[in-house]
Amino acid sequence: MKSRVLILGAGFGGLELATLLSEALGEGADVTVVDRRDSFVFGYSRIDVMFGKTTLDDVSLPYAAFEKPGIRLVKETITAIDATAKRVTTDGGTYEADFLVIALGADYDMAATPGLVEHGNEFYSDAGADRLRDVFPGFNSGPVIVGICGFPYKCPPGPSECALTLHHYLTERGIRKDCDITFVSPLSSPMPASAEMAQALMESFEEFGIRLLKQRTVIRLEPGLAVLDDGTELPFALFLGVPKHQPPQVVIDSGLTEDGWVPIDLSTLETRFPGVYAIGDMAATGLPKSGTFAESAAHCVSTSILAKLRGSNAQLNTGQGTCIVEYGDGRVSYAQLDFLTGPKLEAIYHPPSIAGKRFKQGFDETRRSRWFNL
Ligand SMILES: Cc1cc2nc3c(=O)[nH]c(=O)nc-3n(C[C@H](O)[C@H](O)[C@H](O)COP(=O)(O)OP(=O)(O)OC[C@H]3O[C@@H](n4cnc5c(N)ncnc54)[C@H](O)[C@@H]3O)c2cc1C
Repeated sequence: MKSRVLILGAGFGGLELATLLSEALGEGADVTVVDRRDSFVFGYSRIDVMFGKTTLDDVSLPYAAFEKPGIRLVKETITAIDATAKRVTTDGGTYEADFLVIALGADYDMAATPGLVEHGNEFYSDAGADRLRDVFPGFNSGPVIVGICGFPYKCPPGPSECALTLHHYLTERGIRKDCDITFVSPLSSPMPASAEMAQALMESFEEFGIRLLKQRTVIRLEPGLAVLDDGTELPFALFLGVPKHQPPQVVIDSGLTEDGWVPIDLSTLETRFPGVYAIGDMAATGLPKSGTFAESAAHCVSTSILAKLRGSNAQLNTGQGTCIVEYGDGRVSYAQLDFLTGPKLEAIYHPPSIAGKRFKQGFDETRRSRWFNL
């Protein structure tokens, strides 16, 4: 009998893991992937959606196009996870597995920041980015805050991309002089893993008149006023927020979390339950919550499952990934990071350039074609 692999979540981690297992096992694989959505959206597409450069429809990649030998992707909502029994309940039925991989990403805890829903906007979900598309055309003047409401959050440079793109958007509309931009971040720098990238970002903020408030978190919004954790009150006409993150409720309810996230063995991504792995944003890795790190985790887990199935070598988690920064003016910078293969973090920085934009396009095209044949 084939060993059953059950992958929860068809995001960066789940899609890459299913693809790797299909490549290795073909029709010999028995892999079920469960996701509640119809389509996948790259996180960075939300920045383009919010500023009206594209639409959600145009950047949605339909799961119907994810067709691979040995893989079945079902559209169902997961309602319970029994890690001990490797049994998962959904609104469509019950699944039992020999290997269970939880890759359900991170959700947003909107209630953690009182007033965010009533008085602000968030741009980290599809719905939030889509709503902002309609807000921007009616916005003409006043202070804008790009504010982070909790750490850790996905894609460390994502909010910097928002602030930079906002600057260029307002400039193109001829209203930049009528608007201040303040960026509130809990981090010690815009990109702690790459000092060069952080320095370049801070120089760009300086050049573009974007005020950076470091090591502060937005804790509450009142009408037209953001309150920070040090008591500072900042007036705003428009608030663009990154909500506090948490694992999906079903993961919390299943008792898999400790101190907020799912504990794993960093080198194997296995949870304390044998044969149960957690990859991507939900896992307590201490690494950036970013799609490329979810992919390298998927690679590690695929080799671990294949090792158990056919005695090949398992590879340890490399903690490698690439952080990409859209400047909003056609240029892109990126840093290739390697957290775990050497004695210390290695970072190779590529300054903002048009070539960087082509690198990002290639990144996007590779995944579209690898996962969706598009
Ligand atoms: C604005 C922004 C910019 C970003 N830019 C980049 C970038 O340039 N590069 C990069 O690498 N990363 C970027 N990211 C981060 C990246 O999107 C995430 O880190 C990545 O998607 C995490 O992958 P994952 O597999 O852990 O989870 P996800 O990709 O979030 O996938 C989780 C899946 O689980 C499903 N799910 C959740 N709960 C349930 C349930 N109960 N039942 C069924 N299905 C469920 C969801 O529908 C989802 O499809 C960005 C994110 C944002 C918001």
